[in-house]
Amino acid sequence: MENKIRKVAVIGTGTLGTQIAVLAACYDYEVSAYDTDEESFSRGLQNLKIAFRTAGGKSPFPTDDVDKEANKVMFCKDLAEALRDADLVIEAVPEDLELKRKTFERLDALAPRGAILATNSSSLPISKIETATTRPEQCLNTHFYYLGAGINMADVMGGTKTTPEVIETVTAWVRSIGCVPLTVKKEILGFCFNRVWRAIKREVLYMWGEGFVDFRDIDRAWMIFTGTTWGPFSLMDNVGLDVVYDIEMVYYNESKDPKDHPPEALKAKLDRNELGIKTNKGFYTYPDPEYSRPDFLKG
Ligand code: NAD
Repeated sequence: MENKIRKVAVIGTGTLGTQIAVLAACYDYEVSAYDTDEESFSRGLQNLKIAFRTAGGKSPFPTDDVDKEANKVMFCKDLAEALRDADLVIEAVPEDLELKRKTFERLDALAPRGAILATNSSSLPISKIETATTRPEQCLNTHFYYLGAGINMADVMGGTKTTPEVIETVTAWVRSIGCVPLTVKKEILGFCFNRVWRAIKREVLYMWGEGFVDFRDIDRAWMIFTGTTWGPFSLMDNVGLDVVYDIEMVYYNESKDPKDHPPEALKAKLDRNELGIKTNKGFYTYPDPEYSRPDFLKG
């Protein structure tokens, strides 16, 4: 199939936006980026390098020189400049519905008429965002997972009007950057695998938050059971505990079920600025977290 995407614009280059931009650059797409915080891209890159080290060499980035690939990304100080000639725009700003809607409104006003607008949201369905644009048929969810841990997959989900051609084009693009597309046939909160991961997250946060177990034992058990190099708490540290909290709140606001509310202990971590790898402390301390030490699994 003909690849209709040549230029990709990534809007919001924190943890995930940076990873998506660099991965697309590795596959020779023209990539531009914009963030209200000009330092975000270099911070995202630093954290990605820590992730590479602790993820035990698993990486979907086909390069030994990630800096060289990152240098190919054209970081713009102006949103309109970043969007110029873009075929595909990936929004990766914080998980806040109003912010995403406002961002999509601006993307719609500034991006080329033919551009596809995708959100990397971890939980918000595109149907809640598409109405901020005049092109709902070209809007969709493309939820990439934490690429730095070697998780090379992305949920792809359309909204109420997304055309089959747009889904097909983006699915082909996801494959073209070495990722596995997970197609969602009917809109659901949490998409495909992220809903499964969220069920695990909710359970382990509850067990830790209520003081039943030490988070390290859950990670150890997970790593031994699945043969992976990170457990749920190490993954949450890499994702960002502020991001985890916001996602849990989307589920809670949808259900209003107290069981869906993130534990107070997680909020206390945010209040202490313990956000994970991005502030050098979350559940673990960085850049040398316990879980990447050789004796961690011995307990
Ligand atoms: P982050 O907080 O690391 O980065 C968000 C970035 O958006 C920041 O750099 C911030 O300066 C920027 N920003 C804020 N307002 C902006 C605006 N108006 N215009 C442009 N940039 C703006 O967040 P993240 O972890 O990268 O998450 C971004 C999105 O991706 C969220 O929707 C999140 O749920 C989703 N996501 C995150 C992960 C993860 O592992 N962190 C995984 C999958 C999906």
